Amino acid sequence: MTIANMADTVRLQRKGCDRCGAGALWDVELPSGRHLRFCGHHLNEHMPRFENDGYPIVALQSQRSV
Ligand SMILES: [Zn+2]
Repeated sequence: MTIANMADTVRLQRKGCDRCGAGALWDVELPSGRHLRFCGHHLNEHMPRFENDGYPIVALQSQRSV
């Protein structure tokens, strides 16, 4: 349990896309409660499935550059 909690903390603190490590712009909450983070490119790649399944998608405002 301790290891799992530590892994969750690391994941939440990580700011990069889960797929490519670029700066994450979007946070997707899975039904399990886990979160995935995506750059714009990878969000677009997976968007059809997320929309189809109704996963909440949240913009990470702090990661946006003007
Ligand atoms: Zn990416």
